[in-house]
Amino acid sequence: MEDLVFKRKIGWKVKSRDAVEKFSRGYLDFIGKCKTERQTVKFSEEILRRNGFLDVMDYDGSLPAKVYMKYQGKALIAMRLSDKLTSGMNLVAAHIDSPRIDLKPHPIVEDEGMALAKTHYYGGIKKYQWFNIPLSIVGVIVKEDGSSIEVNIGENEGDPVFVISDLLPHLDRKDAKVSEKFEAEKMNLVLGSIPVDEREKEAVKLNVLKILNEMYGVKEEDLVSADLTLVPSFQPREAGLDRSFVAAYGQDDRVCAYTALMALVDAKGGKNMGVIHFDREEIGSEGNTGAKSRFYMMFFREILKRQGFDDVEYYLDRALQKTCVISADVNAAVNPSYKDVHDLANAAKAGYGIVLTKYTGARGKAGASEARAELVARVRAVLNKKGVLWQVGTLGKVDVGGGGTVAKFLAEKGAEVIDLGPGLIGMHSPYELVSKVDLFESYEAYKALLEEM
Ligand code: MN
Ligand code: MN
Repeated sequence: MEDLVFKRKIGWKVKSRDAVEKFSRGYLDFIGKCKTERQTVKFSEEILRRNGFLDVMDYDGSLPAKVYMKYQGKALIAMRLSDKLTSGMNLVAAHIDSPRIDLKPHPIVEDEGMALAKTHYYGGIKKYQWFNIPLSIVGVIVKEDGSSIEVNIGENEGDPVFVISDLLPHLDRKDAKVSEKFEAEKMNLVLGSIPVDEREKEAVKLNVLKILNEMYGVKEEDLVSADLTLVPSFQPREAGLDRSFVAAYGQDDRVCAYTALMALVDAKGGKNMGVIHFDREEIGSEGNTGAKSRFYMMFFREILKRQGFDDVEYYLDRALQKTCVISADVNAAVNPSYKDVHDLANAAKAGYGIVLTKYTGARGKAGASEARAELVARVRAVLNKKGVLWQVGTLGKVDVGGGGTVAKFLAEKGAEVIDLGPGLIGMHSPYELVSKVDLFESYEAYKALLEEM
């Protein structure tokens, strides 16, 4: 009778502590180094090349093969091919952008003897969380001649950091809504306060420009053609007395990008399998590096052509019909202090394994592709067969929560798609928590699904 009831299992009671700890050490290194999509693509490409993956443009059509393509330095797809693409694929798709604060095109202004940088946030943030914490400036400045300068201030020992300050409590006694207290237009970064010389106007701003020029050889106009981003300077740490969590910035969704990539490298071959790292998910998958774009279809067409197919469009459809995509994205794990937003019977708990999300969307499942029952059954069978711990999740109570992932854009192409990823606590905050055992189970789940779907 007992087995009539579904019971979640506590990961720490079932899994090897050694295996979990070993995997999380590699992850801590990755998540500390990769705070932007560009850094993540670079890191992932290094791992792929070390493991024998070739640029798809160098692929001769033979089998088996390991190929990849990066796009605009901000997105990437990699595949292990053991058969013609028309036999179908098992794919895991994650996104590598995270909520953050970007600099405006003319960022530097001077006000009351201080140089400030103007910002515009990216993705869904609770603005107050980004005030009064150490921030690093990372990204690139591209000069007129096309040369690209990598900027990284705040990530290395001894670097200065940057702060968006708000008002002291002594002067902040009027009652106001949080959205009024923390306005986007007031999210200005302190850059400096030393004037360059005796001039009265903008002497501090000029000094800041002088320092930037000494560091990077750039002038103010060069900042117009830059992708400069503020990310939390915090390094990832183990969290909790029992060290059961990893605390880090940008785990939505680089926790899935990393576990998926490692799964692809470690999986036993046999099927066509691949991983996609998308950009721009946090703002709706727009742009030529997001999930709405064509770059990964270009990659598939390139493979088909090199495998000798003439009518690549027809055969691409054939391949996609036999393709299963795991949309690897995080879900919300219940924070015990705020559990009233969840339907606890259908909410993910930290430490109980990877979260299977049958549908996302909001208000009547709007915007959800929804995995059909047949697909959920196959996923469940594979995870159970391999002893991977899983649980179901939904993003909050009906008509309370909601959200989307890249799932629907891949489903539009004809593939079968389901969402699976670890639960995070404090998602979209500058310092998110993931259970180490859920991190490990995500890797185990993606590996099992790449091998067996
Ligand atoms: Mn996400
Ligand atoms: Mn997100």
